[in-house]
Amino acid sequence: MASGVPERVVVIGASLAGLSALETLRQKGYEGELIAVGAEPVLPYDRPPLSKQVLQGQWEPEKANLRDQEQYDALGVTWHLGRRATALDLSTRTVTLDDGESLPYDGLVIATGATPRWLPGSQDLAGIHVLRTLEECLALRAELETASRLCVVGAGFIGAEVAASARGLGVDVTVLEALPAPLARAFPSELGAACAGLHLDQGVDLRVGVTVAGFEGSGRVSGVRLGDGSVVEADVVVVGVGVVPETGWLESSGLTLDNGVVCDSTCATSAPGVVAAGDIARWPNNLFGETMRVEHWSNAVEQGAAAAERLLAAPGQAVDFAPVPYFWSDQYDTKIQFLGRCCPTDEVRIVQGQLEERRFVALFGRDGRLIGALAFNRPRQLMAYRKLLTAKTSFEDALAHAQASG
Ligand SMILES: Cc1cc2nc3c(=O)[nH]c(=O)nc-3n(C[C@H](O)[C@H](O)[C@H](O)COP(=O)(O)OP(=O)(O)OC[C@H]3O[C@@H](n4cnc5c(N)ncnc54)[C@H](O)[C@@H]3O)c2cc1C
Repeated sequence: MASGVPERVVVIGASLAGLSALETLRQKGYEGELIAVGAEPVLPYDRPPLSKQVLQGQWEPEKANLRDQEQYDALGVTWHLGRRATALDLSTRTVTLDDGESLPYDGLVIATGATPRWLPGSQDLAGIHVLRTLEECLALRAELETASRLCVVGAGFIGAEVAASARGLGVDVTVLEALPAPLARAFPSELGAACAGLHLDQGVDLRVGVTVAGFEGSGRVSGVRLGDGSVVEADVVVVGVGVVPETGWLESSGLTLDNGVVCDSTCATSAPGVVAAGDIARWPNNLFGETMRVEHWSNAVEQGAAAAERLLAAPGQAVDFAPVPYFWSDQYDTKIQFLGRCCPTDEVRIVQGQLEERRFVALFGRDGRLIGALAFNRPRQLMAYRKLLTAKTSFEDALAHAQASG
């Protein structure tokens, strides 16, 4: 490595954050060797359509590809697809792959994302699914074609989107949620109720405050057993109870891990020349004064780029990665979008529209500061708050802004 700039960069995780890092390196003039390793056997594709258009059969799977072949060729990357990194040796600066091959690096981007949690017993029966990969999406899609009753465990965003897509296909849907309302861990209860309303309007049997004790069936699932002993009949089940960061391959490396790969405010890990990005990275976001790991699309793109820039930065020139987190979710004909941070105890004000109409903007305040903004079918109005969040606007001034802009 001459003058701090790596000559050989290896990216582990050939998906959204990894691709963003690869593209940014080239855009910033990096001319060295680029190697990407991905456990899936295909070039990077987009995950959001997997619970929406592809699951509903509106898109062919190829439409979810992130780039075309020409764009991939132009990057000049050596791809190792269908291969898994199994270990990282920081002293020799090498990554070991599942076939025993060792890849030396002088710059390393860790972008191995996250993997769905299963529930005890859920992997023993056919008909029980999680949803993360294209392969899992197509397997679920095939079953939904003939399914009569789907049971979704977990009313988070993935569970809610799967429920909406399945209703669109005419499948009866039950959603089971342990909390008193959907998204109750993240949002004040009135907003969870608005999310619940979306599903109740479409005939979903939404049961909140219930626990799952196990699964019924021999060979194939026939139902989900609840904590009170009752059984929800289902011929297909989707488990949507969150994800865990893919750090298993790093456990013996000595890298600092704690619910993800721990980074500093510039995406650098505890080891020189190693950065992390996307669902796997946990870093102090100085805009919010909070250490976070964000499991959303925009963050993977932005942090992949920031991590690449970190690798190329001259000593003392690294910049903080301090974005306003953003996500969206499409459920039925409602676009839900959120900027910033939120917790159930934040102050909440509906500043535009009405909760009951499911078309509104809600602002969240904490310690006198605007901390987040949520919209249902109000995309243009929501985006105006990004600037206010970036500027650390007081809650009072944000409410005044909302009033002035109607
Ligand atoms: C069904 C679905 C719908 C979504 N919808 C939305 C949405 O509407 N809005 C939104 O904001 N976000 C959405 N997301 C979240 C968003 O897609 C993720 O935040 C994003 O994909 C994270 O990108 P990533 O590159 O960090 O990780 P990933 O996309 O998980 O990519 C990591 C890659 O690394 C590979 N890998 C893992 N371990 C290894 C290893 N040891 N060696 C080599 N490769 C490895 C994995 O196979 C994977 O291909 C959705 C996610 C899913 C699953």
